[in-house]
Amino acid sequence: MSNLFYQAQGRKPTLDQSRGVYMWDQDGKRYLDGSSGAMVCNIGHSNENVLTAMRRQMEKSTFGYRLHFETEASEHLATKLANLMPEGLNKVFFVSGGSEAVETGLKLARQYAVTTGQGSRWKVISRAPGYHGCSLGALAVTGYAPLTAPFEPMMRQMPKIPAPRAYLDGLDADDPATGLHYADMLEQKILAEGPDSVLAFLVEPVGGASTGALVPPRGYMERIREICTRHGVLLIMDEVMTGAGRTGKFLGSDHWLARPDIVVMSKGLGAGYMPLGAMIADDRLVAPVLDQGGFAHGFTYAGNPLACAAGLAVVNEIEMQGLCANAAEQGDRLLARLNGLMQKYELIGDVRGKGLLTAFEFMADRNSKAPLPAGLNAHQRFVDIAYAKGLIVYSRRTRDGTHGDHILVCPPLIVSDAHMDEIVEGLDASLAQFSHEIYTELKA
Ligand code: PMP
Repeated sequence: MSNLFYQAQGRKPTLDQSRGVYMWDQDGKRYLDGSSGAMVCNIGHSNENVLTAMRRQMEKSTFGYRLHFETEASEHLATKLANLMPEGLNKVFFVSGGSEAVETGLKLARQYAVTTGQGSRWKVISRAPGYHGCSLGALAVTGYAPLTAPFEPMMRQMPKIPAPRAYLDGLDADDPATGLHYADMLEQKILAEGPDSVLAFLVEPVGGASTGALVPPRGYMERIREICTRHGVLLIMDEVMTGAGRTGKFLGSDHWLARPDIVVMSKGLGAGYMPLGAMIADDRLVAPVLDQGGFAHGFTYAGNPLACAAGLAVVNEIEMQGLCANAAEQGDRLLARLNGLMQKYELIGDVRGKGLLTAFEFMADRNSKAPLPAGLNAHQRFVDIAYAKGLIVYSRRTRDGTHGDHILVCPPLIVSDAHMDEIVEGLDASLAQFSHEIYTELKA
C-alpha cells in the first residue's frame, strides 16, 4: 500500500536507474524513454558533466536566499540565457517549474501595465485547446476542460481563441491564407473584449500536450506578432515544452519572425536534473517595474544555486553536443518514419511536429476525421502496450478533451540513428497489436 496518490490507475514499476535514453526498473526491465519523461529530459539521463557540476555546487552551498545573496550559478545562467534570447530579452527571473514560470510572466506583464498607466489592461487571451499549467492562475489561461472544469468557481476564466488545427478544419497549413485565418481570430477577440482591457496573448509556439505537437500554419506567428503590436498587447511565448532545443532551435519561436516580449521556460532547462524554470523579459518591461518599487512576486526557491548550476551545465551540454541541430535532423527523420507508419496503419489519421516534438493522432476515419470512440480509451491503451514492450511515449485525449487521441513521440535530443530505429520498431510492434485489438473491438 502506497501513501502516494499520483495516478488513479494502479501502480507503476519502481524506477531503479536511468542512463542516456534508457531507464531500468527494479526488476531489471529496460525502457527507452521515448517521451523524455514529460518532454523534460532533453539531454538524456545521468549526464556526467551535469552531475559533476551539481556535485561541485552541492559541496559549496545548496541554498542562498535570493534577497540575502547573489549566487554565481544564477548569475551565470541568467547571462547564458540572455545571450540565447532574441535581442532585448535580457532580464531573467528564476522559478522552480512551468506553472510558476507562466504565473511569473503573467504577473510581470500586469505589473508593467499598472506602472505605465495602462491599469485597464488585465485580460490574457490564450488558445483552446492549450495547456499552461495547473496552478489556479495558469489554469485560467489553460483551454482544456478536463483539467479546468472542477476549479472554475475558484478562478477567473480568461478569453480563448481556437488553436489553429488546420488538419481538422480541412485547411491547408502551407497556404498563408490559413495562417491569417486563424491569427485574425486573435484580432477579432481583442476587438470584442475591448483593446484597452487586453494585457497579453499567451501562446505555445508549437502546441504541446493539449494539441499534440501542433505546428502553426504558415504566416500565423508573424501575423500574431503584428496584431499584438498594433493593439499594444504583450506577446508571451510559453516555451516550457518547446524551449531548450526541443524543436530544433533553442526556442520554438526562433523558427518564426515573431519576437516575444516575454518568454517562459522550464522542462528542458532543468532537464530532469533539478526543478527549474525561468521567465525572461524585455528590459523595457522590467525597468519601470524596478523603478517603482520592484516586482511584487517571488517564490522561496527562486534562483536556487543547485538548480541553476544544473541548468547552466544542461545549457552548456546542449551547446557543446550540438543538440539543437541533432533535434532538427533526427526530428525530420522521425517525421518521415511516422508518415511511413501512417501508410501502414489506417488508424493513424495525422502526423505532425517540429524537431523532436512530434505526434500522431488516431482517427476512426481519415476522411471524415472522426475520432475513435472515447470509450475505447485508445491513447492510454496504446501507451500501455508500448510500455509493456519497453517503449515510453506520452499521450493525451485532444479535441477539447472529450475525444480524439494523440501520442507524443519526443525522445531526448541525444538520440542516435540506432535509438531511432529502436523507437520506430517499438512503435510498429505496438501499432500492430493496438490495431488488432481496436479492430476486434470495433467489429464486436
Ligand atoms: N506550459 C506548458 C506548455 C507545458 O507543457 C507545461 C507542462 N506540461 C506547463 C506550462 C506547466 O509546467 P509544470 O508542470 O512544470 O508546472
